[in-house]
Amino acid sequence: MLFKNISYLDEYGNIQSNGYVRVENRNITYVGKDAPVQQQEEVFDGYGKLLMPGFVNSHSHTPMTLMRGYGEGMVLSKWLNECIFPFEARLLQEDIYHATLLGIAEMMRFGIVSTTDMYYFIPKMTSAFISAGMKASLSHTIVGTFGGDFTRCPACIDSKKAFLNYNGSGDDLIRIDIGIHAEYTTDEKAVWGAVNLAKDLKTGIHLHLSETKEEVEGCKSRRKGLTPVQYFNRLGVFDVPVVAAHGVWLEGEDYDILANHQVTIASCPKSNLKLASGVLDYGKLRKAGIRVAIGTDSVASNNNLNMLEEIKFFSLLQKNRLGDPTEIKPMEVLDLAIGNGFAAQRRTDSGNIAVGKRADLIVVDMSGPHWQPEHQILNHLIYSSVGSDVVLTMIDGQIVYNNGEYLTIDMEQVLFEVKASKSRILDELRK
Ligand SMILES: [Zn+2]
Repeated sequence: MLFKNISYLDEYGNIQSNGYVRVENRNITYVGKDAPVQQQEEVFDGYGKLLMPGFVNSHSHTPMTLMRGYGEGMVLSKWLNECIFPFEARLLQEDIYHATLLGIAEMMRFGIVSTTDMYYFIPKMTSAFISAGMKASLSHTIVGTFGGDFTRCPACIDSKKAFLNYNGSGDDLIRIDIGIHAEYTTDEKAVWGAVNLAKDLKTGIHLHLSETKEEVEGCKSRRKGLTPVQYFNRLGVFDVPVVAAHGVWLEGEDYDILANHQVTIASCPKSNLKLASGVLDYGKLRKAGIRVAIGTDSVASNNNLNMLEEIKFFSLLQKNRLGDPTEIKPMEVLDLAIGNGFAAQRRTDSGNIAVGKRADLIVVDMSGPHWQPEHQILNHLIYSSVGSDVVLTMIDGQIVYNNGEYLTIDMEQVLFEVKASKSRILDELRK
């Protein structure tokens, strides 16, 4: 496929106008201002449009689309214990496939090409991601306390099985990590077991970390004064690659620990605001040299998977927190949402428009009135655009979303099945 007459974001962070980008199979094979030698291929006329690398959602729970808007206006612990956990306890295998597809459709629609995702029912999630053609680093959530031998616990067995059966599947669309829900929902034995499992399998860990002040204070009283970062560090969690969601309430030596171990903090600004958890101190993390990426968290606490909106929230919040409107340049925040996300997933072959890179690309329509007149495209992208300006999403060279059409997902069926699942679970909860 050849994108022609299109503006594109080059690998140095500059916008090039009226360019050409060729994709063959999974890779980008030509990038330039001059028309390449003609060949038989599909041509996309990109006049008035921007071609750029797709986004990575660095923290989500995709099947929770079923819980969008369920239990609004509650504090995190009450919301989890009274709404989310009872709802989840009634989820069946058959609910997960279509709920995952709904989340995938929403992500593709908003230009996300890969997600770092923690949930349950990994076999069903994997088949949804593979059938839709989307990249994901999935982890089965280890949650609860485990007496006896952790290696015999279902959470450990399911995590290991997920890795052995699905890591690298779908022609490497799928990667499998080990998921630890959080410090406050697991015991030491579970964390220790999860670390050993990740080390044995040579994979990474995905967890929630220092999301609320209450969590950090609770951890200190439970764990002899240790913060969640210090506690996890003592158990060796950061000896493997880690994506840690939130990191809102870091303090003291937490910063050095995270920087020294190259932990990625996945900031989820909208979820943190909605649950009144606080605002990430990005300036401090940046100064400490900690890699920061951006995630949506689940739609249950967001309530959508719109990355352009997430990026805008991140930028505005951090300008305000830093007290400086010159801070958070467009390319800085795009690097968090694209390059750092791919780096955290250990996918070094994607994330920019250059020959030899994977074609994980999106096209953004710049013709709407909210883009006019054009001053600086990247500023417009962050502050003026809306998620629905994404008109095409391509993953590994395959077009999966084009101008309102999902090419790999039967949306009619997905919407029917999701509605049926929601009704059944709510009926059960009312009994
Ligand atoms: Zn989460």
